[in-house]
Amino acid sequence: MKLYNSLTRKIEKFKPIKKGEIGIYTCGPTVYDFVQIGNWRTYVLGDLLVRTFKYLGLKTTYVMNITDVGHLTGDNEGDSSTGEDRLEKGAKREGITAWDVADKYSKDFKQGMHRLKLLKPDVLAKATDHIREQVSLVEKLEKKGLTYKTSDGIYFSTKAFEEKGFKYGELSTLDEIKEGARVAVNKEKKDKRDFALWKFSPKDKKRDMEWESPWGKGFPGWHVECSAMSIKYLGEQFDLHIGGEDLRSTHHPNEIAQSEGSTGKKPFVKYWVHGSFLLVDGGRMGKSLGNAYSLQDLEEKGFLPSDLKYLYLTGHYRKQLNFTFEALEAAQTALGRLKKKVDEIRGGDIEVTDVYAEWEDKFKERLEDDLDMPGALALVWEMMKDKKLSNGEKEGLVTEFDKVLGLDILGVDDVEKKVIDDSEVKALVKERVRLREEKKWEEADKIREEIEEMGYVVEDKGGETQVMKK
Ligand code: AMP
Ligand code: ZN
Repeated sequence: MKLYNSLTRKIEKFKPIKKGEIGIYTCGPTVYDFVQIGNWRTYVLGDLLVRTFKYLGLKTTYVMNITDVGHLTGDNEGDSSTGEDRLEKGAKREGITAWDVADKYSKDFKQGMHRLKLLKPDVLAKATDHIREQVSLVEKLEKKGLTYKTSDGIYFSTKAFEEKGFKYGELSTLDEIKEGARVAVNKEKKDKRDFALWKFSPKDKKRDMEWESPWGKGFPGWHVECSAMSIKYLGEQFDLHIGGEDLRSTHHPNEIAQSEGSTGKKPFVKYWVHGSFLLVDGGRMGKSLGNAYSLQDLEEKGFLPSDLKYLYLTGHYRKQLNFTFEALEAAQTALGRLKKKVDEIRGGDIEVTDVYAEWEDKFKERLEDDLDMPGALALVWEMMKDKKLSNGEKEGLVTEFDKVLGLDILGVDDVEKKVIDDSEVKALVKERVRLREEKKWEEADKIREEIEEMGYVVEDKGGETQVMKK
């Protein structure tokens, strides 16, 4: 397997620390709002890597965190000294506690994982369940002389870290990209790059989420959880760490500094993989721009999560991908056609022959080439169209390939077994979804009858409308 390692800025041959095994960590969601399709691109990347390593025969341990505390706005820019706590912000917006916000959006995340058919991580660790581990990590750093106190918290000293012979920010592209933080730099910080490890609760206000600590009541800084939990579940040094490209500039360098500073072991992680951003209509996506679509937003427009996943697969993870509804529609059509083709050849005996092995090798080659998913997808089509392959071989191969693609091409665990490849039906389904939202039940029922007359069954399950051929 060859992968681009952001740490060495090179494509490298992947060699696990322990033969035959791989420890993988992905920075998970901050659960203060619905997960949007940009975030999902990054989690799908994590899933594809885990599936690929499994496919290549490695034993994987996959860990992901859920940030349910302490992620301050501004952290991404490297200044965690000021800014608003995202969970508290969500609580204010919805008139509920930060705990309820975390609970609500953690559920949304888990449902989304399921709907996108992402493998369940071996450990899905919540920051609030690991306060003890985080406090103990900060204590270790304190003992090593890598921290200092200001009026609002305990900070990591990047200078002290460097004086011990470590390099801070090796991974970062911060010099190459636009510098500057959205929030003002804390005057008490000894160095602009320093960041909070533990923040004190304000004296005049009770926070929803706060804990006792050797430094007084407060809450952990955002970066601490990833170091504490990855070390706990994967060890002081592990193989692969994944995240979106924005995390490369400060969050990940801070994770490295905390981890290496506390364990004294270098490197903390051998390979760092960063996924490029998803754009919407060629630009940035954001809540304020109204284009930070969630899976639910897409479903309301008649798209299934697998359509979005297919769209992700058409772009290489190190290239930005542009989301438009036209592109999503094209992905939906292509996936529909693929499923239909597969449906036509199914039902015989799966044949495993020499030609079969050849195709498998070709598929592996694509994966091993820095996770070339567009290439792998093109190969699936090439295979399905190949005249020399028998139906049994095709069915066997598509079953194998889908172990990595995770598109449920064969419709095994999905109700949409029989593909809707009829634009008229699709339009009616969309219309019916809209009418149901407007609570126009009678009109919606009429459309249901129309769809059924055209030979389809309509089912509304868990907020999703599923349509299949009778
Ligand atoms: P957050 O919940 O803000 O901590 O982000 C969760 C993950 O989504 C991180 O790995 C981010 O880098 C990633 N992410 C955020 N926005 C995008 C985007 N537009 N495209 C791809 N990944 C993103
Ligand atoms: Zn992280």
